[in-house]
Parts: sequence; C-alpha cells; structure tokens
Amino acid sequence: MTETRPCPCNPNRALHDCCGRYHLGALASSAQALMRARYSAYATQHIEFIKSTSLPAQQAHLDMAAIAQWSQNSQWLGLEVIAETLAQDQRHATVEFIAHWQDEHGRQQHQETSLFIKPAERWFFYDPTAPLRAERNAPCPCASGLKFKKCCAPYF
Ligand SMILES: [Zn+2]
Ligand SMILES: [Zn+2]
Repeated sequence: MTETRPCPCNPNRALHDCCGRYHLGALASSAQALMRARYSAYATQHIEFIKSTSLPAQQAHLDMAAIAQWSQNSQWLGLEVIAETLAQDQRHATVEFIAHWQDEHGRQQHQETSLFIKPAERWFFYDPTAPLRAERNAPCPCASGLKFKKCCAPYF
C-alpha cells in the first residue's frame, strides 16, 4: 500500500519512485532532488533523513525535537520548485521553492532560496540559521578539502 501512495513533493509520482528512493539511501542526483526528498521526509516523518542530509558540520546544531514536532503536527500540502541554479564549480547550487503545509494556525506557505553544497559525491543542505565561518586559508567547513576562500566563502 505505502509503495503506491503519491509522493508528497509531486502527486503525479509514486513515493517509492520519487523521494522514497533517497529516504532508503540512494544518492540525490541534484540539489533539487535533495530539496524534494527533504520536503517529503518532513511529510513522512523521516526525521533522520533531515539530519543526515544537513551539512555534517551543522548536524549537531539541529533542534531534532523541534523538527520532529513540526513534521508530525503539520499536514504537508505540496512543494513548488521555482528555480534551481548550479554554480560553475558544480559544488554549490541554490533551489528556490515554496513549501505548503497546514498546522494549528491554518494554511501556511514559505518561500525561500536554499543553498546546497556537494563537498564530494553527496549533496547536503546548508542551514542558514547556524552559519559556518572559517579563516580564508583554513580548510572549508564543508569538508571538501579545499581552502575556505576557494570553496564556500562566497556563499556563506
Ligand atoms: Zn518526491
Ligand atoms: Zn566548502
């Protein structure tokens, strides 16, 4: 039954054929795919996925209890991806989106442009509420192995 239910990010696709694959461990092929999978993870209470797809250096700062509560107490109504932009270095991307949900205050929508970083083979979400900093010549906090100034400095 659960295999054929529609994906929270796109009612025209089945969950198992869309974001469900990423929740089970497949690598998101793009920042947009990860953005969609994170939205669907909120909708299906895959809270561990929210943590594991946040930039590793930021994971300890996440308020997992608040994330779990928001996930459980909301009805997830849909996601619109407006634009995806891949930087020339192929390691940074932004996704502009509108998320829709309903909570005890009624229908909510939130528009944001999120930053995603691919230090190696996987994309991660950058949480702007817990900003990372480094000396320009220090190793980048995203763990790409590059100096901060050659990696994320222009984005943080
Ligand atoms: Zn999906
Ligand atoms: Zn970096």
